[in-house]
Amino acid sequence: MTEDTYHKSRIANRRLHPETLMMGYGYSPAMSEGSLKPPVFLTSTFVFENAQQGKDFFDLTAGRRELKPGEKSGLVYSRFNHPNMEILEDRLAIWDEAERCAVFASGMAAIATTCFAFLRPGDTIIHSRPLYGGTETLLKNQMGAFGIKAFGFTDGLDIASMRVTANAAAAAGRVGMILVETPANPTNGLVDLAACKLIADELERTQGYRPPVVVDNTLLGPKYQKPLKHGADLTLLSLTKYVGGHSDLVGGSISGSAALVKQVKSWRGSLGTQLDPNSCWMLMRSLETLDIRMHRANENAQRVAEYLANHPKIARLHYLGNLSSDDPRKTVFERQCEAAGSTFAFDVKGGEKEAFALLDNLQIMKLAVSLGGTETLVSHPAAMTHSGVARELREEIGLTDALIRISVGIENIEDLIADLAQALEAV
Ligand SMILES: *Cc1c(COP(=O)(O)O)cnc(C)c1O
Repeated sequence: MTEDTYHKSRIANRRLHPETLMMGYGYSPAMSEGSLKPPVFLTSTFVFENAQQGKDFFDLTAGRRELKPGEKSGLVYSRFNHPNMEILEDRLAIWDEAERCAVFASGMAAIATTCFAFLRPGDTIIHSRPLYGGTETLLKNQMGAFGIKAFGFTDGLDIASMRVTANAAAAAGRVGMILVETPANPTNGLVDLAACKLIADELERTQGYRPPVVVDNTLLGPKYQKPLKHGADLTLLSLTKYVGGHSDLVGGSISGSAALVKQVKSWRGSLGTQLDPNSCWMLMRSLETLDIRMHRANENAQRVAEYLANHPKIARLHYLGNLSSDDPRKTVFERQCEAAGSTFAFDVKGGEKEAFALLDNLQIMKLAVSLGGTETLVSHPAAMTHSGVARELREEIGLTDALIRISVGIENIEDLIADLAQALEAV
């Protein structure tokens, strides 16, 4: 395909960076009255020039035929596609270093639609543990109702134990998909993506179907981790978190090869899990500052982690930025992640009482679930996001009653440390 001017990603031989491309890629002012910024296209449907064009656009949108050389497809109806969704997907695909991207009404909508695309009754799914609470419920309860069984592994660094889980899953049914979260929330456990790829390759040989390796990359986001480079087939984001970044919208995305994303998009069209024009527009605005927001949050988090590591009332830190050289996560961290990010957890000395005392005395940091916003949020996973996780599994993964999760924002770092200092005094 010839590159149109608004999909320009190079100057001569120079490949432009995402930070640069976020300001204009995929949008043509000439198509919208010269407007510098894309309008919000509030329309449910699109007018065809003639009946033949309507027929062609429907055939192409439904995937009944491929584009002919020089042919362009067009928009049909906003459940399938709309201009704001198209521009947003083009820009996110750049961050994810993917051929294609599809966006959804939420992170859970992206995960659920992907499950519908690749899982069939009687299938099994292999997943890492712990999972985001919503994903856990979807796999265990909702997908379970369709006869799909979930098999979890806890040590994502040990391929032998991952294989034990994979074999158990394969014995119970066709493995339809491998879904992993790395780093895991809230303890920052890592999953070796090269090992996941190996297991998918082995399953392809034994069962004649390749289960896609799907990575939930919400915690580090597309700036600090590119799962497709390390063995994943699809990378998934809750856009609600770092990409949206202002705690003011809900959205999700999945990126990968055109062939795989097409399968998921087909289900999105049937289920109606697409993202609305207004949220797409807000996300385009957010993408313009993704790089600087994540950079600042990452720097702030490093300072907060250093402060906590040296504080006498802190028992333990689950932070990827200061792994000791004998930590088993170190090699995988250095291979897969470009930074430690700004969401991590720590244990105060004591238990729930001491953790609650710290949380209740903070004056700047807000007590709320979610992460990745401009403001610093703190929460108590055992009593909140992970209260549904069995105590046994919580203990296995180190999710104690003294554990606090923090998502460090972009405030002034001295103010943040002063807030922690005064709250810790009250513990
Ligand atoms: C928030 C989150 C989700 C779900 O995303 P929503 O946008 O809330 O639907 C999935 N995975 C992880 C790791 C998350 O943090």
